[in-house]
Amino acid sequence: MAILPDNFHKNAKRRVSEEMMLVQRLPQLWCWSVAVLLTAGSHITHASETKSVQRVHTAEHFPQGALQSGLRVQQETLTLAPMAATSSYVSPIVANDFSFNAIGPHWHAQLPEDADLKLYVRVSIEGEHWGDWIFVPQEEGPIDERTEAGEPNPFAGDQTGALVFVHPESRFVQYRFDFIAGPQGSPRLRRMALQLINSMEGPSLEPAGHAPDKHEQNAHTAAVPKPKIYKRAEWGARSPSSGYLYTRANHIGFHHTAGVADFNVGNLNDCAARVRAIQAYHMDSNGWIDIGYNYAICKHGHIFQAREDDNDANDVHGAHDGFNAGSMGVSTLGYFHAPYNQQPTPEMLHALQLLMAWKCDERNIDPKAASLYAAYGAVRDNIYGHREVRATACPGDILFTKKQSIRDSVAQIIRDAVTGVHEHSGPQPLSFQMLQSYPNPFSTSATGAPAKIIVNLPSPETAELAIYNTLGQRVRLLQNRFMPAGQHEVFWEGRNEEGRQQAAGLYFVRLTTSKQTQQIKLLLVK
Ligand SMILES: [Zn+2]
Ligand SMILES: [Zn+2]
Repeated sequence: MAILPDNFHKNAKRRVSEEMMLVQRLPQLWCWSVAVLLTAGSHITHASETKSVQRVHTAEHFPQGALQSGLRVQQETLTLAPMAATSSYVSPIVANDFSFNAIGPHWHAQLPEDADLKLYVRVSIEGEHWGDWIFVPQEEGPIDERTEAGEPNPFAGDQTGALVFVHPESRFVQYRFDFIAGPQGSPRLRRMALQLINSMEGPSLEPAGHAPDKHEQNAHTAAVPKPKIYKRAEWGARSPSSGYLYTRANHIGFHHTAGVADFNVGNLNDCAARVRAIQAYHMDSNGWIDIGYNYAICKHGHIFQAREDDNDANDVHGAHDGFNAGSMGVSTLGYFHAPYNQQPTPEMLHALQLLMAWKCDERNIDPKAASLYAAYGAVRDNIYGHREVRATACPGDILFTKKQSIRDSVAQIIRDAVTGVHEHSGPQPLSFQMLQSYPNPFSTSATGAPAKIIVNLPSPETAELAIYNTLGQRVRLLQNRFMPAGQHEVFWEGRNEEGRQQAAGLYFVRLTTSKQTQQIKLLLVK
């Protein structure tokens, strides 16, 4: 039996009756049961077609769950009994009147040093058969005291958990907290909130390639075209709750969304539903005026216009890295870090690079340089991972280790655009990049340097590297041998097999391995 303060039942009774009044004022679609408790913080949002509600539990509701021995409610908090080192709390079943496909958990707790609270959720469609417990990693930082628009934040100080995507017909949810005491004491849980989101209803989207919209292309004067971006109206974004602030990006921060979701399923419309859910979580729980990121990219390589408008003269001030002014935030949908260790797809990385290349070109950002990130107050790489400015795992170890190749590829896309190598459909070759000592075209005159070709092999293999002319004839075999994994530099000074200097013109560098053939253009001038 849990130890309750003397006045607990009386207070609880009074508060429950107040809540019943509150519930009666809510729309009639609410059905009341003692197992489903709402507090004054609960409200339902019908914006766009996404439905969302905050289901909140406090000390008076906790005893309706399974209070294992070792747990008790004390001073309006759920905590471990003295001497108890660990225990688990399983909440009452929360039945919702609409089905939900995403759960945004956030909770108010005191956590002494080295103590821990581990959160799990599970769902059911009909309330009888339950899925497995899903571990919910914590996001960085508590919810701010003020909303982004400057109002008092109803969930100020809450720790947020990863947004959890579940079966879209889920109607019932339970949460479980594992309490772990530290030497300074036990965790104290004051309030638990589950934002239940149904973001399945939205406009139907047709997949398109990365070819830019025609008017976008014409409106754009820089070399790198703006890639195809699914606009807010296309994916059914809610309007921002307050006007945008504007900035001009001189840095680009990249993130992962760190949502807990099956990475193997989904089409464009499922991805749009996930972006709508992220927006609902950012707005209704974090108290932001809109989704935090400027752009979001799914595993299929689709780019979603997030906190952005169609005017590219300025960039919208985001809420993505804690500083934001002067930085464009791009997030990739996935969890590229332990414990979920998903792998970004080539399509996702390609889209990320195209988007970054467009913005770098437009804003004259050198993708491989570093400069002062003024809002942060120090020099940072112009393309940086979130963790470089904040104590966070974002964008995840797995994506962050690709930072160098992302920057290289962005630089390559810009160079190709400037020198007229046009984008082909399909992923940009990541494992084969050509760089030069001097800008392409390269020259064989006395002052010219040979073309430097850089080959990045993801695994050791036999690789043939050769130069071809526009007739498809091989001019020069540069290399055909077993090469270890990693980066290799090969030079071509513009001569054929016989050592004769070749005519000015267009040539192709072709890399052939057992797995792939890749080709890039090279312009030779005299
Ligand atoms: Zn981040
Ligand atoms: Zn997708």
